[in-house]
Formats: sequence, structure tokens, C-alpha cells
Amino acid sequence: MPTHLPRKDLFEIPPGVIYLDGNSLGVLPKGAAARAARVIEDEWGGQLIRAWNEAGWMDLPRVVGDRIATLIGAPAGSVATGDTLSIKVYQALDAALKMRPDRRVILSDSGNFPSDLYMAQGLIGTIGKGYALRTPAPDAVAAAITDEVAVVMLTHVDYRTGRMHDIDAITRAAHAAGAVMIWDLAHSAGAMALDIAGSGAEFAVGCSYKYLNGGPGAPAFIHARPDIVERIDPALAGWLGHAAPFAMEPGYRPAMSTERLRVGTPPILQLAVLQEALKVWDGVDMAALRAASIALTERFIAEVEARCPMLVLASPRDPARRGSQVSFAFEHGYAAMQALIARGVIGDFRAPDIMRFGFTPLYIDEADVIAAAAILQEVLTTEAWRDPAYRVRGKVT
Ligand SMILES: *Cc1c(COP(=O)(O)O)cnc(C)c1O
Repeated sequence: MPTHLPRKDLFEIPPGVIYLDGNSLGVLPKGAAARAARVIEDEWGGQLIRAWNEAGWMDLPRVVGDRIATLIGAPAGSVATGDTLSIKVYQALDAALKMRPDRRVILSDSGNFPSDLYMAQGLIGTIGKGYALRTPAPDAVAAAITDEVAVVMLTHVDYRTGRMHDIDAITRAAHAAGAVMIWDLAHSAGAMALDIAGSGAEFAVGCSYKYLNGGPGAPAFIHARPDIVERIDPALAGWLGHAAPFAMEPGYRPAMSTERLRVGTPPILQLAVLQEALKVWDGVDMAALRAASIALTERFIAEVEARCPMLVLASPRDPARRGSQVSFAFEHGYAAMQALIARGVIGDFRAPDIMRFGFTPLYIDEADVIAAAAILQEVLTTEAWRDPAYRVRGKVT
């Protein structure tokens, strides 16, 4: 099947908007709203409880997991969906620690997303027993993988800078030291080709509302390497991870598949919307997607550096070490981003001073990149960001 990038016609992009924040909340795919309406009106409204069987609700977590599996290079049946990414991080961490009972160190990095680190801290507080979380600088992680490390837990693409770890090399180093490997693919699933099975990592987790366009609150996913699944002792032993949920047994008996990483009732509305959203990936060649992503980020860096000398590139210059986003440091970054958003160019801001721009090749093209850079130049050269209205901080930045 031929690949046509971008595929803007598959998305509801508001007129006048250049959307460079699909790495945080993906755009609404066409068809998603109609699907949600069908699920609400026909299935919930019309079929009521019968829909669990008759509308395929009970199978939806697995069906959607199988579709995500193809995007991360994992085998069918190895991806469970549901809950939020923070919960999936917790489950993977707990399972990994139990696989290395004689070790006490969780190794991550100082650039990891706060929630991943908080979940590790919370888990350590719950288990006690002298566990420790180590967070060296990203470049120092490989050297910090010692035989004390039970689990290496890293986010592949840094949410703030876009810096990218080498999945294969770090997984090899973790395994050579006897550690379990967990990859968080929040900023890479749907942004590039991935081969999680080829890496041999035990676990991979991610969310579906960023590059996968599943909408706010869309369910997370967790992959477990098939050969370890039956040894996973789930921290959150919910009834839908049970081997026979409707046997209503008093004791927990885990499903003999990745389903044991499910917890409770799946979010059907969100899963249905996500299933619809994942159709935009049909026929997409992920190598072509990555090539388009690199072309867009390279062009944006070149345009911005030529037009806006006051901004300092905070992402790796080498595209091979960068995800599908570009970040610039600027002292007045928050206000400048607000001024930019007021002009229809939507990126976001991450404390303390990062202006972040995501490039989603399915719906961003070169003309968008050039237009966005020109508007950024206007905001900076006129100092439009000095307007006090742009300094008011929302709850979400
Ligand atoms: C977006 C993101 C999260 C968010 O977790 P939720 O539980 O879905 O809110 C967690 N970790 C990383 C690395 C992220 O990029």
C-alpha cells in the first residue's frame, strides 16, 4: 500500500491553527466523534449490558492492544491496554523488582518524566526494604548499570529535550548486568519505527493520547515479553487480569497472558475512539514517517536558528539522537509560547524555560514549519511576548 505523508485529510485540524503539540495531545481524527456517538447511542443506549458481548466491548482492550503492538514492533497478544501510563509504569516496575529479589536499585535518569520517577518513589515507599532510585544524567546511564541494579527504567525520548536513548544498546547493557529493562515509549510510539521485540526488553509502556491520537485520557498500554508473562506477579491484581473473571473466585489466579496486566473495567468509550484513531496508521510505512519527521525537525531548527538568534537549541542537533520534537530554551519562553498560541501556532512550555514543538508527520508539512518559524520570528523580534496577558499561567502549560 502506498504511503502518502502527510495525511491531513484524515484529521480535524481547526482552520488557522498550526498544531505543533501532537506530542502532548494528538489531533482529533475524522471518524472518532461519530464512533463515540455510535458507542454512546447505539451500544450503550440501545444494547445496554448486552454490548459487553454483542458489541465486542469485552474484546476491545485486546484488539486495540494488538493494533498498538504492530506500531511498537511487538507480537500480537503481548500488549494490554487500559488505565493510565503512570499505573502501567508502577505495574512494570513492581513486576521487574520481583524478578530480581536479591537486588535493590531502580536505575532511571534525571531527565525522565516526573510521574515515572514518582511512581518509582511511591513503590519504594510501599515495599521499604532498602530500595533506592538512582537518576544519573541521561548520558551517564549506561555507565551506571551495575550488578546492584534490579531494573533499568527509561523513557526512550526525553519529554523536555527530545533526546533519544539507544534502545538496543541500553537493553543489551542492562541484560549483560543481569537487570530487567523497562522502556517508556510515551514519546516514541507513533513517532518512529520501533522494534521492542527485537530489543529483548522485558517491558514497554506508553500512552495513546500523544502521537497515537486517542484523545484526552485515552488508555495506556503495556507490553510484556511473552516468555516472562507467566512469571509476572501482578501488583494490581484486579478481576479483569484474572484467568476467569466471571468465575468470581475468591482467590486471585492470573490470566496466562499479558491480560494479567489488566486491572479493572476497560474504558470502552476511550478504547473505541482509540481504535478509530488507529486507523490513520493503516498503510503507513514507519521508515517513511521517521524520514518525514527528521526532515521537518531539521527544517524547523534551520529556520528558527536563522530567524531567532535569541533562542538556544535544547534538543540534540544530530537527528539520529532526537525524537520527533524540537525544544528551544528562552528566558521568557512561557510568555513567548502564549503569544505564539494567540497567533495560531500551538506548541507548549515545560519549566523552567523550554519552548517545545512537536512534529507529527501525519498532519504537519513543510509549509506549516516555515509559517510557524515566521510567526515565532515576529513574536520575538517585536517582543510581543511582553504583553502582561501572556504571563498569566494556566494549570496546564
Ligand atoms: C505523557 C507521559 C506520562 C503521563 O502519564 P499518565 O499517567 O498518562 O498521565 C508519563 N510518562 C511519560 C514519559 C510521559 O511522556
